Order: sequence, then structure tokens, then C-alpha cells
Amino acid sequence: MNVEQLLAKVPTGVYIGGQWRETGETFDVENPATGEVIATLASASSDDARAALDAACDVQEEWARTSPRERSNILRKAFELVTERAEEFATLMTLEMGKPLSEARGEVTYGAEYLRWFSEEAVRDYGRYAPSPEGNLRMLTVKKPVGPCLLITPWNFPLAMATRKVAPAIAAGCTMVLKPARLTPLTAQYFVQTMIDAGLPEGVLNVVASKSASAISEPLMADRRLRKVSFTGSTPVGVTLLKAAADNVLRTSMELGGNAPFIVFADANLDKAVEGAMAAKMRNIGEACTAANRFIVHKDVAEEFAHRFAEKIEALNLGNGLEEGVTCGPLVEKKAQDSVAELVDDAVEKGAKVLCGGKKLEGNGYFYAPTVLVDVPREARVAQEEIFGPVAPVITFSTEDEAVAIANDTEYGLASYVFTESQRRMMRMSHRLEFGLMGANLGVISNAAAPFGGVKQSGMGREGGAEGIEEYTSIQYIGLEDPFASE
Ligand code: NAD
Repeated sequence: MNVEQLLAKVPTGVYIGGQWRETGETFDVENPATGEVIATLASASSDDARAALDAACDVQEEWARTSPRERSNILRKAFELVTERAEEFATLMTLEMGKPLSEARGEVTYGAEYLRWFSEEAVRDYGRYAPSPEGNLRMLTVKKPVGPCLLITPWNFPLAMATRKVAPAIAAGCTMVLKPARLTPLTAQYFVQTMIDAGLPEGVLNVVASKSASAISEPLMADRRLRKVSFTGSTPVGVTLLKAAADNVLRTSMELGGNAPFIVFADANLDKAVEGAMAAKMRNIGEACTAANRFIVHKDVAEEFAHRFAEKIEALNLGNGLEEGVTCGPLVEKKAQDSVAELVDDAVEKGAKVLCGGKKLEGNGYFYAPTVLVDVPREARVAQEEIFGPVAPVITFSTEDEAVAIANDTEYGLASYVFTESQRRMMRMSHRLEFGLMGANLGVISNAAAPFGGVKQSGMGREGGAEGIEEYTSIQYIGLEDPFASE
């Protein structure tokens, strides 16, 4: 199938109450590798958003009553369909987001796993039955779906960020309004079509792509029928949504930004560290919330580490991700390219040295040369802000205490990485680092079966793992009479 045939399979409307429909307005989707418009989609208005919530509310009660097995079977079928359509999903993601096809295939496998994992969790979400300590009653707890949810996803992992929310919501029995990112809605549109093909009943999942995110979130979050918002995206937008959520005391899950430290001790296996660094930094062109942001390396090995890392980075093949052999794609849009360039320029002005890269690439598309910076002062913006691009600043340390202090000196707390051959130090670091995730001699640790999420300004709540379904359930306690009390 060629690209035109694939794009023709992607629905262009909003999907509300079981119908794809057009709206009054449209917006374009670009390929960041070429700057070309690849699709034009219907843009949902606030009225469309309200209609989507109406549809979700209409079927919430009935959907909550379906058996866990029925919901599990739909998720299992969806896992199989996404897997069958892997090449189509991968191509769509490369087209709209820019990541190389091989990485997009990896995301399909990862994203599909959430469907399989929650198809298995759907039938194992138990409550409990216990005597009260005094023996005067029996305590029964049951888990109920929280109710209609608004799910807002970012552009960097267009499939996995959607399956990570939709799958547990389905498993728990919630209905949904999904709002994908404006930059990468095509994958979500095709995913929703795939859920329909897997047998999801009308109204359970509605999708409203829009050129204005707040036109969707504001009316829905002000509507008392909405019971939950699950958001993955930047911290400033997360804070805005949390404030809006307070008015209606909405349940929230917030997967926000990161500023991951990647710590290499002097006793680390440098082969493993360099390999881990490539994965933690370069996966997704550095546009990942888990991306290593600060390379904090012991002074005795910093030079060797930086040179070996730079050698591998220079060997990357930049280009259009659809082309054979390309290992690094463009940034998602011009704004992203400009902001990465500003961070590097600021670091250089403050004394950092460029070991490789350090510039935008001329021509079509939003390419930035993968970059290693050394002698980066801690006050440089690149050492403090989320970079979201292929830039690796190296900072040195002398003692473990210093490494911990540098690593924790951020308002973020999502991913962290530690490389050492000492098991005791590794465990100690896990206690000392204020991050929701830690890779121990590993550069990529995401897994559908693991709880993913941050602390501090990286958010709250966990996605995936046994914990993921809890975000979509609330517990009801029923006090029962003591069955042994005299009649
Ligand atoms: P973003 O915050 O700009 O957008 C995320 C989503 O929110 C998009 O769908 C966008 O349209 C929507 N949005 C934007 N403004 C909004 C508003 N005022 N009201 C409601 N919705 C709004 O983030 P992004 O640029 O798409 O994604 C990158 C960010 O996401 C990074 O900070 C990254 O770290 C974070 N991220 C976090 C995780 C995680 O699991 N913690 C995963 C992936 C990405």
C-alpha cells in the first residue's frame, strides 16, 4: 500500500456517538520531514466537544454493566488488529511525527501491549470482603468505573499515549472523549477506527481532534457530568488543567514533563553506559518525557564517555524517517527546532563546548544535528529545562552526594538513569533519587506491565501495570450486617 492509499483509509471527521462526521472547520497536518501538508481534518468546536460528552454520558451506565470478559475480549481483539495493522500505524506515525520507521514499529508493539495488558487486567480487578476488627459487621469493597473521562494526549507518542489511557478506561468500564494532539491526530483517528472494528459499542469512545485544545477542554471540564481528566503533556498545560479540575473536584491523572538525569559513576561499564545513553537520549529524536536531559558523569570517565557517545551520535543518519537506513528524524515543528537551537546557543554563550552537532540543518523539514555539549555550566538553560530534542549536555561530578544533589535539583521527577557496577550503590541511588522511574544500567525501561509516572512537577497517577486501571475506578465500601449476629 502506498502513502496515498494509507492516508485515504484514515477517517477525517470527528467521531461522536458512533458516527464519523464533518464539522464547520478544518486544520492541516504536516509532515515535519518535508513541511508538506499530508492531511486535512475536521476541527471540533466546543459544541462538538459537548456532543461527544453527551454521547459518552448516554451510554455510561449501560457500558459499566457489560461484563469484564466482554470488555476484555474487545481489548484483545483490538490488540490483534493493531498488530495486524502495525505497518500502517508505523507509517502514519513516521509521516506525521517524524520518527524513523524502525522506531515507529517499536511504538506499535509497545502501544499494542497496553491493549493486551488491560485485556488481561479487565477480568482481575477485584474488591475485597473482610470482617471489621470489632467483628460487628462485614466490609465489602467494589470497584466502579469513575465515569465519563476526557483523555488528552501529546504528539510525541501518538499511539502509545492513546492506548495507555483508552485501554484501562475500557477495562474499568468508563466512556471517553479523546482529544489527540493537533500535530499528530492521524494515528489517533486510525486507532479509533480500529477500536470500532474491534467491536467497541457506539458512544463509548468519541474522538474530537481540534485546532484549539482549550475549545475542547474548557467546556468539558466545566461540565459536571465529566468525572475524570487524564492528561499527558507539558507541565504548564497540566497546571492549567489541574486548576480547572479543582472547580468540579475532578479525578485527575497527570503525566507531565521531565528532566531526566543520566548518572554515570566511575565504576560503570562504559559500553553499557554509552549504549544506554544512545537509547535514553536519541529514541524519538530526544522528544520523550523520559529522555535523558542531563548527563551527569564522574570526572574520571567524563572525557572518554563524551567522546564515545559523540562518535555514536555522529554516526546517526539524519533524514526522512520513511527512508531506508535513516536513524534520526526531524523535530516535530519549526517552533521545536528554534527552541532547541536557542538552548544550545545559550549554553555555548555560557561556556559550553560543542563536541558534535550544534546547528540546524538547512533545507526542508525541521532537522537539528544531534549534539553533544561538554563543560556545560549548571546555570545554562539546557541543564535546567526540558530539552525535547537531540542534544546531550554533559556535566561532571566528583562524589555521589554531588551527583545526587545535581540530579535532584529540578522541579521535575519522572525518569532517571544510573550506571554503576556496584549493586549496593545502585540500590542506594534508587532511594536517594526523587524520580518516579529509574533505569538501572538501562536506557529504556517503559513496559505496559510497569507503573509509569512521576513525582513533583512531573505529575501524579500511574499508567500501565496493575496500578493503571485504578486511575479509572473508584472504590465503594458497603457495610454488611454481621452474619453471625443473633437474629
Ligand atoms: P502540550 O502540553 O503542548 O500538549 C499536550 C496535549 O494537550 C495536546 O493534545 C494539546 O493539544 C493539549 N493542550 C495544549 N494546551 C491545552 C490547553 N490549554 N487545554 C487543554 N489541552 C491542551 O505537550 P506536547 O508538546 O504535546 O507534548 C510534550 C510534553 O509532554 C513534554 O513536556 C513531555 O515531557 C510531556 N510528555 C509526558 C509524558 C509522561 O508520561 N509523563 C509522556 C509524553 C510526553
